[in-house]
Amino acid sequence: MLESLKTVVVQCAQEAEAQGLCRWRSGNFSARDESTGLICVTPSGVDRRTMKPDDVVVMDRDAQVVESINGRKPSSEALMHLAAYEEREDIYAVAHTHSPFALVFAALERPVPGLVLEAAHIRCAGGTIPVAPFAPQGTAALADSVRAPLRTGDAMLLARHGALTVGSSLDDALLKAAYVEELAEVAYRAYALAGGAEVSALPPEAFTLRYPEKIKMTKE
Ligand SMILES: [Zn+2]
Repeated sequence: MLESLKTVVVQCAQEAEAQGLCRWRSGNFSARDESTGLICVTPSGVDRRTMKPDDVVVMDRDAQVVESINGRKPSSEALMHLAAYEEREDIYAVAHTHSPFALVFAALERPVPGLVLEAAHIRCAGGTIPVAPFAPQGTAALADSVRAPLRTGDAMLLARHGALTVGSSLDDALLKAAYVEELAEVAYRAYALAGGAEVSALPPEAFTLRYPEKIKMTKE
């Protein structure tokens, strides 16, 4: 079942690794099927380089495995994905990454200020990426920790752990994960150049995306 969605999940997981957003066995990805509501999630303990669509696990919203063709267990962080879908009926994908600069801020439990316009793409309140409180891996507390940040935006850091983004598709969630990393790198370097001094974020209104009205696609 859901063969094409499983393929998308594998491609996204491999793309995230190729982009350096996660390494080794860290990070996990899922997508929700619009018509059935079932969730396709990456398996636990499978190398992304050799991962196949049949390794992807199908779950329902109650954490019941519905199908696992290769007998894989879902990611140990699958409950976090289920909590995200429960909290946000409007999303269809979750990307959880351990990208290097985001991890630096997560280690310090420090929000990432949106210093440049990439912040417009991640829909976070005030343009700043918040930090979800620390909870151990695989626990219900970790799953619940993502709920409050998701009420105000599509991206967050997980304290001492990594980053999580959501979107209308896995492409969308993955793009936001890339922007989170870019914003974290910019902030890290900006703080370094400023000698550790606080660097102010742009005001929230600056993050509104506008397309120039002057550009016309059809001749009048
Ligand atoms: Zn993780």
